[in-house]
Amino acid sequence: MAVTDGGAARVGSRACDDARMSRRGTRDRTPASTLLDPLGQPWPETGPPRRIAVLGSTGSIGRQTLEVADWLGAEVTALAAGRDVDGLLAQVERFRPALVSCAPEVADRVRAGLPVHTRLVPGAEGAREVATADVDSVVAAIPGFRGLGSVRAALAAGRHVALATKEAMVCAGPLVWREARAAGGRLTPVDSEHAGLYQALVGEAWEGVATLVLTASGGPFREGPADLSRVTPEQALRHPTWQMGPKVTIDSATLFNKGLEVIEASVLFDVELERIEVVVHPESIVHALVRFHDGSVKAQLGPHDMRLPILYALAAPERPSVPLAPLPLTGTLSFFAPDLGRFPCLALAYEAGRRGGTAPLVLNAADEVAVEAFVAGRLRFDAIPDVLERTLAAVPAADLSWDVLDEIDAAARSAAAEAVTAVAS
Ligand code: MG
Repeated sequence: MAVTDGGAARVGSRACDDARMSRRGTRDRTPASTLLDPLGQPWPETGPPRRIAVLGSTGSIGRQTLEVADWLGAEVTALAAGRDVDGLLAQVERFRPALVSCAPEVADRVRAGLPVHTRLVPGAEGAREVATADVDSVVAAIPGFRGLGSVRAALAAGRHVALATKEAMVCAGPLVWREARAAGGRLTPVDSEHAGLYQALVGEAWEGVATLVLTASGGPFREGPADLSRVTPEQALRHPTWQMGPKVTIDSATLFNKGLEVIEASVLFDVELERIEVVVHPESIVHALVRFHDGSVKAQLGPHDMRLPILYALAAPERPSVPLAPLPLTGTLSFFAPDLGRFPCLALAYEAGRRGGTAPLVLNAADEVAVEAFVAGRLRFDAIPDVLERTLAAVPAADLSWDVLDEIDAAARSAAAEAVTAVAS
């Protein structure tokens, strides 16, 4: 179903009208929050994007973004993928983008399957070209630290970035924000918890906000087994509620994903780490909550379907109707405190966030190495936090700058590889 912007343009234009009215002085008080989004950015005046570029198009978020693009009737003009040749070519066939990128090692196979009007630029250079394509919105969904370069390029080109690559905020958040502010780029969160916070904060003044609360499903091992040392990659990849890529699924099982999200929320919303709470909520229906100083709590609920946060990240503040069944409001919602003893990765993320500078970058690199080793059968599940802790101790935190990122990331990866060898032996 294609959704036209006919009826949906109202909310955005109302915000604009308020702006004009207040400038004319016909209203005494216009709350700033009707002009600015919860991140302090002007709401878009043009409605949902008409043209979209997707970084990481063949991954889980990328594929769901293309469904959302269909809902919006948006044109998909540029796609960056990795090594999934068949997946990329099927998307090209369906969406006819003008530009695509892929991993250099599969470029010949991709080129052979492309129609004449689609241009191919392989590798990181291609991802940057896709990131800076002439579009209204760029969905950034290349997972991991390697997704950062194209996020930076898109913001430096003044694009709106719907951000799924949480590592960009975790590893270089303050730099990413500076880039966005300097070039007039705009950011909206795709991560479901952050999209939930973003929605719960619309219309609220920051002075009233006490804490931000992220929910965690608790992963597949919330209730057992008591001994996590024998957990296999197959078990850890079986997430109870969300369908996601392999790295984030393992990170959900260790609660490290929630740790990344705590840091992401702190940097994205510019709120101290101590004011970010985590609550385990196995049903994954409440995505986030905001506690206010008056004791009130505002929650955002929705089915666990990533297409909804993607849609809001693209279309906010508008809410186009979509072809999904309404959320059933029967059943039970439960909430528990996280078990930090059983899942130390969450506590380690708070620790890295408190140290600041490059510490979150180091922790992220350590986890990417540890999860790869676990999936390859070279590291026990319950040894992942040991690798994180050892790496954090081995690589001293430095001040954050674009110049040091690659160097510190590489140092952290080699320290983490040594830690894997040490704890596995
Ligand atoms: Mg999330």
